[in-house]
Amino acid sequence: MTVYFVSDLHLKPERPDLTRAFSRLLDTTFQDATELYLLGDIFEAWIGDDTPTPTLESVFNSLKQLSDQGCKIFFQHGNRDFLVGEAFAKSINASLLPEELTVDLPVGKTVISHGDQLCLDDIEYMQFRTMVRNPQWQQDFLSKSLEERLAIARQIRDASKERTAEKAEYITDVNQQAVTDLFIRSGVDLMIHGHTHRPCIHQHEVDGKQATRIVLGDWDKLGWYLKVEKQGYDLINFPIED
Ligand code: MN
Repeated sequence: MTVYFVSDLHLKPERPDLTRAFSRLLDTTFQDATELYLLGDIFEAWIGDDTPTPTLESVFNSLKQLSDQGCKIFFQHGNRDFLVGEAFAKSINASLLPEELTVDLPVGKTVISHGDQLCLDDIEYMQFRTMVRNPQWQQDFLSKSLEERLAIARQIRDASKERTAEKAEYITDVNQQAVTDLFIRSGVDLMIHGHTHRPCIHQHEVDGKQATRIVLGDWDKLGWYLKVEKQGYDLINFPIED
């Protein structure tokens, strides 16, 4: 059993190199995957499953091919692609997962999430999150025309960029108490998440016991993935080529 995790690829038309690199990874390295977890922010923006995304077709085809071969694909929402819906999931034969979940991996039970809900120090973002994760807000947004949705998404993105630039390091990282609480709530000693763009393997002490938190990396000059097998896990990066 070989399980792969990726997050924070932020695929967008302006970075065809990232789309190509992900397709290549799916078509080669991930061919031995029994399970693939997409832990959010795979897409830089997602304003509804009905929106045309011609630049992502190659990735969709590679994902579909992988699932056709018997690999199970799971998708957890990030703070950018939280509007990925059942229609899209069905098209690549993936299952949508709740925002935090304990799964059985070859190395044992593990709690997984995108990770943005752990960033409690970013009060402004948490308020925004409460708004956009509300089913009523999502329904209203998705009922608007494509043009309206694009305009709103652009406004949100510009405002968020400005605010993030002004924030101190610790604010945009996870809150340690939130991490401890999630370990305790889930009752496991391994956690995998993305979102912070700070790839690392952290050791924590929770109730006097050792716990491990793996943070996936975002894709830019390097691509990142986590490989999990019975003998252990490996957080791997590789250069993104043109
Ligand atoms: Mn994120």
